[in-house]
Amino acid sequence: MRPTTAGHEFGEVIGALGEQPGGGELLRMGRAREDLALVGGAVRDLLLGRTPRELDVVVAADAAGFARELAADLAPGAAQAPSATLHERFGTAVVEWETGRVDIAERRAETYSAPGALPQVRPGTTEEDLRRRDFTVNAIAVPLGGPLLGEIISAEHALEDLRAGRLRVIHAHSFTDDPTRLLRLARYRARLGFECEELTAELARAALVSGALDTVSRARIGAEVRLALGETEAIAALSAIGELGVLRALEPRLRLREPLARRALALLPADGRPEELLMASLLLELSQSSVGDPDAAMFEFLDGLEFTAAERERITRSALAAPSLTREMELAERPSELHETLCAQTLEAIALAAAMDRGGPAGRASEAAREWFERLRHVRLQITGEDLLAAGIEPGPQLGRLLALTLARRLDGELPDGRRAELDAALQARV
Ligand code: ATP
Repeated sequence: MRPTTAGHEFGEVIGALGEQPGGGELLRMGRAREDLALVGGAVRDLLLGRTPRELDVVVAADAAGFARELAADLAPGAAQAPSATLHERFGTAVVEWETGRVDIAERRAETYSAPGALPQVRPGTTEEDLRRRDFTVNAIAVPLGGPLLGEIISAEHALEDLRAGRLRVIHAHSFTDDPTRLLRLARYRARLGFECEELTAELARAALVSGALDTVSRARIGAEVRLALGETEAIAALSAIGELGVLRALEPRLRLREPLARRALALLPADGRPEELLMASLLLELSQSSVGDPDAAMFEFLDGLEFTAAERERITRSALAAPSLTREMELAERPSELHETLCAQTLEAIALAAAMDRGGPAGRASEAAREWFERLRHVRLQITGEDLLAAGIEPGPQLGRLLALTLARRLDGELPDGRRAELDAALQARV
């Protein structure tokens, strides 16, 4: 790893950095200090002509002090004061404001006492800081000040890999040191459309076969799974994770049915939860398994990955309900029947069920889902239980029953608009 006088790349990064929120401030601050460098995903994305999600920088020491300085520098131009979140124990900090974010880390060297363990960390040189990273394309540093200004420091092959669209680990122990890199590999493949260099692919396979994923906590794997689910191309990310053999290693009954997942996502309304839909789709086969207790297996799997109790509940409910809902949706003839079938179901279960519609009469289930999402689920009565009490109905369970019957008639288009018609209908429904 050595500095290269890569004037062309240097100019490219500096020019593009100036256009990013916070980029001008970083360039200015670089003039006053020797240790500031842009690194990681930010350099990679700027060289690829992409917009980085955030700007990653390293400093030699005192990331917290640098964060405060940057926040103060940004403050005059920002509508709201930038927030600086400091993690002094880890030597990292984040400065965030309404239009941008800068991640700051102290340069460090990492060593692994055992495969999958958290690394031991000490202050390090720029070269050591690059060596601890996952892939060559993420191991490029662009000094923003000091004697190396104008040069680029990178891991071997980094620039050529970036140009060729290739993901390559920095050393042969990378995946065994930190098996979460297997999921990162898949995520970058999907996001950047990069190929995996041959030896890296072999190392990934070997790490999986040797059970590397078992050396790392499920919580850390869960964090990477959530990052994959949050990708713009989340299905491609899951598919790449599956292709690597990671899904099978986590739970042999996980299946990604890509076309089904795509159809379901396309149907899910804007207030749905795409991440939960994708998890439920992965669990469909397990949910229908006749071996053991699928409920318990799904719970244990999601709990291990540290999905919250509410997420676990909704995901398992969706996976369990979807397969039988398709037929029920096809059979519902009236809007009120559809309401009865769907009102207690998650949006994700309904989208999945509709996507499983194997061409029933003219895609009946998909039509039903659309009708439910767009119109029927929003229909509300104008009257409430209070109105029925005021009209002399005795309190008790029949209040709910009368409101439900009236809603069914409203959904089926049997009532003219207005409170009066609803009240009359409710009163008529009394036995
Ligand atoms: P994103 O666009 O998703 O933010 P990124 O490449 O910036 O992509 P981050 O997760 O923000 O990714 O991490 C920043 C940098 O830290 C990466 O580019 C990489 O160099 C390094 N990094 C993060 N996680 C690991 C890891 N598990 N092992 C090695 N290096 C890592």
